[in-house]
Amino acid sequence: MQYVSTRNKTLKVSSMEAIKYGISQEGGLFVPIKIPSLTDDLLNLMAKSDYAGRAAALLAQFLPEYSREDIDESTKGAYNEKTFDSPSIAPVVKLSEDLFSLELWHGPTCAFKDIALQVLPKLMTKALKNTQENAKIAILVATSGDTGKAALEGFKDVDQTSIIVFYPENGVSDMQWLQMVSQEGTNVHVAAIEGNFDDAQTAVKSIFADEELKIRMANANLRFSSANSINWGRLVPQIVYYISAYIDMIENKWLEKGESFNVAVPTGNFGNILAAYYAKASGLPIHKLICASNSNNVLADFLNTGVYDARRKFFNTVSPSMDILISSNLERLLFELANRDDAKVRSWMTDLKENQRFDIEKEALNRLESMFWGGWADESQTKMAINSTHKTLNYVLDPHTAVAKWVLDEYRNQMGDYRKCLLVSTASPFKFADDVLKALNYGDTTEVLDKFDRLDLLSEVSGMNVPAALVQLKGKKIIHTTRCTKSDMKTTVEKMLGLN
Ligand SMILES: *Cc1c(COP(=O)(O)O)cnc(C)c1O
Repeated sequence: MQYVSTRNKTLKVSSMEAIKYGISQEGGLFVPIKIPSLTDDLLNLMAKSDYAGRAAALLAQFLPEYSREDIDESTKGAYNEKTFDSPSIAPVVKLSEDLFSLELWHGPTCAFKDIALQVLPKLMTKALKNTQENAKIAILVATSGDTGKAALEGFKDVDQTSIIVFYPENGVSDMQWLQMVSQEGTNVHVAAIEGNFDDAQTAVKSIFADEELKIRMANANLRFSSANSINWGRLVPQIVYYISAYIDMIENKWLEKGESFNVAVPTGNFGNILAAYYAKASGLPIHKLICASNSNNVLADFLNTGVYDARRKFFNTVSPSMDILISSNLERLLFELANRDDAKVRSWMTDLKENQRFDIEKEALNRLESMFWGGWADESQTKMAINSTHKTLNYVLDPHTAVAKWVLDEYRNQMGDYRKCLLVSTASPFKFADDVLKALNYGDTTEVLDKFDRLDLLSEVSGMNVPAALVQLKGKKIIHTTRCTKSDMKTTVEKMLGLN
């Protein structure tokens, strides 16, 4: 199947090239020319399979250039009991008659990014082999906290690749920091930047587009690619878990076949909820896509007004992986809202780059609002959601998922739509133990307990086991101490790649 760029429809590549390049040369994002439909045959086939088999069946639809053997090998290698601590990989947990938690944090880094980043490196190396690529691929990543570690885990020691991760110095949790700076592997680089995620992401995108650097890279037989959700290979594995959850809910008799349900998704770069949109577009009976933001509420405002305005204060919140003002993947949705008019997308993106804002017309806004509902939770609302969910449902949420829970409750109150909802749970609460304990009225435990004792306390309080992946961090050496400013990122990359 062919993929086109959102900024130039005449640019067409195969699914393998879309994954290998990560981003189109003129800055656009690759999208499939046609969204495959979820037929009954496909659903039945997926229902009979384990998670790896479900993923393989769906990936084969979106990535037909890959041999079935390559896809099976990739999904089996990614989704198994060595890498995930739940045999279902992405289990659905019933919290009440109308609320179900889709737990996406059973992988090696305890956040949902693992689901895509365990399989992406495998798809990438197979694409390199099958397209006779002999350049070494340098994966350049900007992270708001979770992508960094998940990408490092996925790409460490993978042949023909190296990986460079930039994270905001003061924008990640204790655990996220320790996970990244202690990363082992012969091909990994990690650096802190003085700035926030948007600074890192913007600088990474401009390094990708740097013609002069591209030439020097080519001379050294190097090529950049991306493991951020701008890479299509990040998105397609995320479509799988929405379909898998639907199948599980039907099997458990929590949902009738064909019955519509809502999804509530904590959102930052708009990747996870966009995967839900593609699942809906392919025929999954999702009614409303409830898009939840934290205090960095640019998406909530956009969904309510049609004006995307990034000229606002940036907040560091207790849900750091959502501290984003420029949501890259929105571009893919804009392409659909514009009826695939690439000129229109170009003009919006130029406005965004030059004026930090753009607006869409009434008709596009109506289409948007027929599918999406946007809301946001501030810091105290996020903590209240953690506290009340623990009290009423005996379930401990991490701060990101709590944002979605708050927004879902608001949606239900305002719209009176109480149909069943899948609450997309994106991180283990243990990754953010200090803020979760605060929300549960244990006060500031950072003063009295060490990081790892806090995990044990949260385990007692929640009745959940501390994830082994976090316990293993105890005593790990700090390996990566590089820091730089955002204007130094390019030279830092050159140094890491041995180009200067
Ligand atoms: C990345 C992340 C999000 C935001 O997901 P997007 O795909 O960027 O919208 C939400 N929660 C957690 C825990 C994350 O790591």
